[in-house]
Amino acid sequence: MSRFLDRVETALKDEELKTALGRATERLGSRRSASLASLENSDMIRDMARRAKMGLLQDLAGNLETFERNLIKNGVKVHWAEDGKAANRIMVEIAKSRDCKRAVKSKSMATEETHLNHDLLEAGLDVLETDLGEYIVQLADTTPSHIILPIIHMTKEKIGEIMHRKIKVPYTNDPEKLAKIARAKLREAFLSADLGITGANFGVIDSGTIVLVSNEGNARLVTTLPRVHVVVMGIEKLVPSLADLDLMVKILARSATGQKITTYTSLVTGPRRPGETDGCEEMHVILLDNGRSNILGGPLAEILGCIRCGACLNACPVYKNIGGHAYGDTYPGPIGAIVTPGLRGVKDWKALPDASSLCGACKEVCPVRLDIPRMLLELRKQAVEEAKVPWTLRAGLWGFGLAASRPWLFKPGARLGGIAARLMAPGGWIKKLPGLAGGWTRSRDMKAPAPKTFQQLFRERKTKGPAASVPMGAETAAPAVNEGSGHVR
Ligand code: SF4
Repeated sequence: MSRFLDRVETALKDEELKTALGRATERLGSRRSASLASLENSDMIRDMARRAKMGLLQDLAGNLETFERNLIKNGVKVHWAEDGKAANRIMVEIAKSRDCKRAVKSKSMATEETHLNHDLLEAGLDVLETDLGEYIVQLADTTPSHIILPIIHMTKEKIGEIMHRKIKVPYTNDPEKLAKIARAKLREAFLSADLGITGANFGVIDSGTIVLVSNEGNARLVTTLPRVHVVVMGIEKLVPSLADLDLMVKILARSATGQKITTYTSLVTGPRRPGETDGCEEMHVILLDNGRSNILGGPLAEILGCIRCGACLNACPVYKNIGGHAYGDTYPGPIGAIVTPGLRGVKDWKALPDASSLCGACKEVCPVRLDIPRMLLELRKQAVEEAKVPWTLRAGLWGFGLAASRPWLFKPGARLGGIAARLMAPGGWIKKLPGLAGGWTRSRDMKAPAPKTFQQLFRERKTKGPAASVPMGAETAAPAVNEGSGHVR
């Protein structure tokens, strides 16, 4: 069994995880629908946002150069990082050369991707996450399990227990009290930090602006209180202009949390200028590639249009059951099933594109209409071509292909298979399949096939009439194959 399947099995046995995920994803899904419904011309806005993102990918290199020029005009120092290690090295060099000792961070998936905290601690810097969810993640010494809600997998009782254990405060599971405790600790850190680190939700090309959206206001403090502010930004996070930013902000908040707009939208255009009272003394932007330019030239390029709203995670039936940690890397859910193999290579991550029922719910909710199922299929194809596929799977697919293309073989085979499956399901549900097929029932059951196939029922109806051939209730009691695949245990 692969490590991915190990993690899935562990997740499926975790009842607390299932409860936490079920509640949160349900709530986020319905808020998203209501919020988008209240946006006039939401379909048109989604189309325009998609056009803007896809258009700039056509000349990403040229757009990045323009963005760099405008950043420099605004007094920002720009660095290019080929991979995560390079980005972290640049960050440590900046910190050391400016004699920074304590860093505060706002939420950033790019720095999760590069494992920045580890390298900063190793270089002797004190580093503190200031987004409440990320702060709990750091205290618990774990990783985020959702790109918007890092502790979606934790209950309030668990959070209370972590804070009690790690920062020695009296136990409480009251969210308001917990937030107050965290706020007091974080305020202290903001005031003593000399390095502020953020990601970037967007980089506006024509004004050289870094845009940060948050609900807690911590990004504003991280960008203004410390002497030095460093942004780590994936090279795909561009938008052409402030007019395009307006579209993105409208659909990002609605898709992510169901809000009309996030509480704080910060536009940072360079360090503090003479005569200004707010802002850092020195600002740097590290433009992170880390595999993105490899994606750009291929069939997965569309994924670089992702605005990291997390809506596809909340809609995905697989994510809802296994949570984020099972995906084994920074980005979970449908987006992670594409980005992780895209950035790190399909060979070691070939299980992720299989973690999808291809139901299309992700494509349906994606605010920039990314065709996620198409890209998952493309990765499955690459996995078959590039990675070593077990001979058992090859033989099975060959056998199926042989039978499926020969009706004289398929029909009796299906009949025999149906009889065998019914024999294994005395109560109407198959709990355990034999041999290689056992993988399917390791963590789920499935309904036994109906005694008659659709084609048999159809023929009978045609010759005898509907009332004569189908007993009352038979269609609903025992449909052939399309009534769901069973229960995840
Ligand atoms: S793929 Fe689409 S739905 Fe998923 S996080 Fe990205 S923008 Fe949001």
